[in-house]
Amino acid sequence: MNLILFGPPGVGKGTQAARLASTYDLHHISTGDMLRSAISSGTPLGQTAKRHVESGGLVPDDVIIGLVREVLQDDISKGRGFLLDGFPRTLEQARSLDSLFDDLGIEDVRVVMLDAHENELVQRMLKRGEETGRKDDTEETIRHRLHVYEKQTHPVKAYYDARRKVDMVNGLGSVEEITGRIIKQLESASAPEPGV
Ligand code: AMP
Repeated sequence: MNLILFGPPGVGKGTQAARLASTYDLHHISTGDMLRSAISSGTPLGQTAKRHVESGGLVPDDVIIGLVREVLQDDISKGRGFLLDGFPRTLEQARSLDSLFDDLGIEDVRVVMLDAHENELVQRMLKRGEETGRKDDTEETIRHRLHVYEKQTHPVKAYYDARRKVDMVNGLGSVEEITGRIIKQLESASAPEPGV
């Protein structure tokens, strides 16, 4: 199984992704983590990404698509399952990902959407900003990221709804509760139907 974990900033994708990757032995691919690490080591990718990430905007599609393509090709060549966290974030990324899946013959992909109310998302990101010093977790940048999500990323849900089953999961509750809900959705939907 391969997974796409989708949802607004602050909903807990990173935390859940790490837990699910360990449960299902998947390679956790977080585009946000990859960009933050490129920025802190000052690589060419980091230099391109810095102003976008720090202002809460999106890194250009061609940059991020190229990056994800390389990682996925490597996973497939090693026969490793993957979990995408924070990608796709635009319709262009979703379309490119589908054509990459076609090229690489990847069929077993599940989409999970985690969601929570905007006020909860803002509170969680402000708290994370205080605890970790993450530069884009300030009130103004958080508001901008939520706006970018509504405008550019939320349409990806309709794109998937028209093409694949999307498992909707409530992102409110303890970390353990939410992981439990996701696993339940994934396993109930993949269980063979009685008598089949
Ligand atoms: P995240 O850690 O997923 O919240 O991502 C942090 C920041 O990295 C985002 O606000 C964007 O600036 C950038 N980023 C992460 N993933 C993507 C993506 N798929 N497309 C464009 N920008 C991205």
